Amino acid sequence: MTDYLFEGLTSSQREAVAHVDGPILVLAGPGSGKTRVVTHRIAHMLRSGVYSSQIVALTFTNKAAEEMRSRVERLAPESTVWVSTFHRFCARLLRAYSNLVGLEPNYTIYDTSDSLQILKRALQTEEISMSHATPEKVAKAISWAKNNMVLPERYEANSANAISSIVQDVYPEYQRQLRAANAVDFDDMLMLVAQMLQENPDLRAALDERFRYILVDEYQDTNLVQYLLVRSLSQQYPNLGVTGDPDQSIYGWRGANLNNILDFEKDFDHVKVVRLEQNFRSTPNILSVADQLIGHNKRRKKKSLFTDHAPGQPVRLLTYSTSHEEAQAIATRVATYVAQGKRRPRDFAIFYRVNALSRAYEEALRQQGIPYMIVSGVEFYQRKEIKDVLAYAMLMNNPRDDVAFTRIVNTPTRGIGKSTILKLQVHALDHGISMMDAAREAGMIDSLNKRAAVAVAKFVAMFDRLSLKINEPVEEILGAILSETGLRAQYENSDDEEDLSRLENIDELLSSAREFDFQHPEDGTLEQYLEDKALVNETDEFDTALDRVTLMTLHAAKGLEFPHVFMVAIEEGLLPHERSKDSDAQLEEERRLMFVGITRAQEELELSTANQRDFRGRRMMTVPSKFLFELPREEMDFQAALGRYAPTSQEWDDIHEIPEDDFSQTGESGDFADNSPSNDPSPQTKMLMTAADMVKGPSSSKPKLNPDKFHQSM
Ligand code: ATP
Ligand code: MG
Repeated sequence: MTDYLFEGLTSSQREAVAHVDGPILVLAGPGSGKTRVVTHRIAHMLRSGVYSSQIVALTFTNKAAEEMRSRVERLAPESTVWVSTFHRFCARLLRAYSNLVGLEPNYTIYDTSDSLQILKRALQTEEISMSHATPEKVAKAISWAKNNMVLPERYEANSANAISSIVQDVYPEYQRQLRAANAVDFDDMLMLVAQMLQENPDLRAALDERFRYILVDEYQDTNLVQYLLVRSLSQQYPNLGVTGDPDQSIYGWRGANLNNILDFEKDFDHVKVVRLEQNFRSTPNILSVADQLIGHNKRRKKKSLFTDHAPGQPVRLLTYSTSHEEAQAIATRVATYVAQGKRRPRDFAIFYRVNALSRAYEEALRQQGIPYMIVSGVEFYQRKEIKDVLAYAMLMNNPRDDVAFTRIVNTPTRGIGKSTILKLQVHALDHGISMMDAAREAGMIDSLNKRAAVAVAKFVAMFDRLSLKINEPVEEILGAILSETGLRAQYENSDDEEDLSRLENIDELLSSAREFDFQHPEDGTLEQYLEDKALVNETDEFDTALDRVTLMTLHAAKGLEFPHVFMVAIEEGLLPHERSKDSDAQLEEERRLMFVGITRAQEELELSTANQRDFRGRRMMTVPSKFLFELPREEMDFQAALGRYAPTSQEWDDIHEIPEDDFSQTGESGDFADNSPSNDPSPQTKMLMTAADMVKGPSSSKPKLNPDKFHQSM
């Protein structure tokens, strides 16, 4: 009898799916069915008598979790297995046991910019002045500490690192202020749960018993805290199943530790190890390019992957003269294939290293009338108008939320100036109360004049009226906020075009609230809605049912697959990213990122660079990525697109022979979104910068490469 759970699986896949009790490690390359094994295994466990409530499956993005949940539901329609991201899993546990870590259940989850407000305040409170560091860098160092389970009181400065001594001084105060606001930052969610489990053995044992079977997909991207979490819940019941591919580890910058997967066999006794070697996703041509690229990483174990697919098209490598041309060519290709009926828009994806690159491709697709979507859900919730509305809701849910209070007490303007807000803050700090409570005492604060006190009192009265609605459906709450506070009127009465689009965004927010109410007819609290929004991540607005071209970062592409992939802007400074220039380990991570991109492609893959790129409002000359020279060019369709010139392998070898001290000083790196520490460029980067000049040859018509400018514009 054929069994639908095992049918069509390879023998190794079956072996993994059939495993129920005890630790299991599935180690395999891209497209080999790891995620498929996880879902089939869950269905098989359910059939073997394990209860849904005993299983939890964890992954990193909401999109991946959703995908997994729906696949499990298809295989086992009655199941209610908890499939979640690490953050949502922890958010839920924190609500249930908030008192153990000094929180109220209605705590607020701060996003990066909100946490930064608290950090700035803590830096002020501690009177720390900074000449060589920015609050962003300090925030990053604190995040690192939290991901590595270093609690504030245990943090020790490293004398060689100036930022670490600032962190030592400010971290405890930052944490104190978060707790005073009954709030957590993203990293806290995981760290606090891990701490809670460490400090409360009974709770740990109870949860271990409840979550008897834990499955983690993409285990190569776990950091120390995540590792501690799943380990501590797998003591009496060591039924931990992890799947991953060390070559796809791309979150080192967020503290992910490859050793978690490499040491799995040492962490548990009697680990079953399954290796999958057949790739079901890509053509041999694509796989070969991926394989040769990743072969340049030194820190890895070699894996073999084969496929039964026909060779397919050769992988294309195209060099355009400008980024504009690159975008036009891609959009034209998409439009042509769609017009010929060869493909649909949703078959295509365009991957880039950083979000800021997306604009050129959007514009070109728009001109061709091709529908597309940008996968970056976070940005919507970062818009000012959205944050304003949500800040009111957050304050209603948690009146101790000082960041929300500060944000909206005078938004829209109601005559409460900066100095009034500062006086409320001082009063709050002096009396150990929240700013909202300070506002309630405005009439008694001597330093406030009468007019200011009246304005604050009016605000408090309005807020209290709003708060009466806290148990209404979320759409109604948000609607009330928009009308009572005057936010909607402010935009409606404006002639500014931008305000019109803000109104549209607000309407979109309302429809998301409506959808939430609809999906949670019984249990849809404001608290839960806010948690949902706080945990939106990059891949959220991604709906494969839509027939659109997908534009996304390489990081967001993890785990996905598309018939036709374009990887653009494969240039030094972008891929590998500027910040990887100081360390071989980071360079290897960038190479893995490129590997992840390549291995998303099922049938066709086009890699491209442009000699000149417009980026963040600047035009710069580029240098082709060193990764491009590691690819098997003889197997590829290696075109100097549109007659442009690209270096050959021989030329590249020559370039490597240039003595290092011939190079002039290059510039400092500028501000990155993630604020990684900037240091002097490594000799290797210097070499690459100058190598580009060489490659391009002496041409008087071309602007000379200006490395300083290049660095600064990144
Ligand atoms: P990644 O490392 O990129 O996350 P993965 O190992 O998780 O990849 P899956 O996404 O599970 O791989 O599978 C890749 C593709 O191959 C999917 O389209 C999946 O449906 C298909 N696939 C997996 N196993 C089989 C099989 N035995 N027969 C046919 N198709 C399969
Ligand atoms: Mg997968």
